[in-house]
Amino acid sequence: MRLTRRRLMATAAALPLAAALPRWSLAEMSLGDATVTTVSDGNLVLPGDFVFEPMPQDKLLPILEATGQSRDELRPECNLTLYRDGTNTVLFDAGAGPNFMPSAGELPASLDAAGLAPEDITHVVFTHAHPDHIWGVLDDFGDLLFPQAVHMMGRAEWDYWWDPETVNTIGKARAAFAVGAKNRMEAIEDLVELFDDGEEVLPGIAAVSTPGHTPGHMSFELRRGSEAAMVVGDAIVNHHVAFARPEWPSGSDQNPQQAVATRKALLDRLVADDMTLIGFHLPEGGVGRAEATESGYRFVGMDV
Ligand SMILES: [Zn+2]
Repeated sequence: MRLTRRRLMATAAALPLAAALPRWSLAEMSLGDATVTTVSDGNLVLPGDFVFEPMPQDKLLPILEATGQSRDELRPECNLTLYRDGTNTVLFDAGAGPNFMPSAGELPASLDAAGLAPEDITHVVFTHAHPDHIWGVLDDFGDLLFPQAVHMMGRAEWDYWWDPETVNTIGKARAAFAVGAKNRMEAIEDLVELFDDGEEVLPGIAAVSTPGHTPGHMSFELRRGSEAAMVVGDAIVNHHVAFARPEWPSGSDQNPQQAVATRKALLDRLVADDMTLIGFHLPEGGVGRAEATESGYRFVGMDV
């Protein structure tokens, strides 16, 4: 496998000043005769409690210190995976769009910097329907950003957010997530195709059910010949505690216990198969590997 990393600073002159920040990195690798690239949607700004509150605080702090992560605030990158096999140009998730957080929603500029227009995207495949992953289907004017693309979502995820009861059962903190997801899903309803666990959704792309972060969260195994990589979405949502202590419940998961079981099984498999992983909120473009340690795992970024 060949992997190259290049900074977008070379093309930064073409971008608005605010976008030309060092966080704009782009990881690219070949997978057989296909190309896998990650493109940035910017980053999120989250209060530490949103993720860390349910964890054993005395054991948490040394792990955060070791990775330079503050307890008070997280600023995770948002990295979308782009898969190009010569026929299909597939984008995994759609980013946050203009209305979620000022620090996110950079996808259109990022695609432009990668030499792509929204019309070049043939398929948008969702890991799940949280705001930073689906709100970006609509642009600044509330119009579809990818009106000619097939939009694809796991059936369980679609059914959960489509259910009018979800806004009442999800809890106050995430009620806006439910309203926002339903609104975007209504916008893409005529373009959407649903799929189930294990299905080959497109040539070389197989759906792998990884529930817990949301009820129908999906990961995707990309395979070309003997080479493979796993798009894990938010099933492994950060590079510190999710790897070091995958058995700890995280406040960012809607069903923390189910997410723990999913995360442990996924990390086990990634290590056993020595498979490249691509995480939406992992650093340096989100591409790397999991390595087993004495007490858990660690994330090794694919730095070349
Ligand atoms: Zn996310």
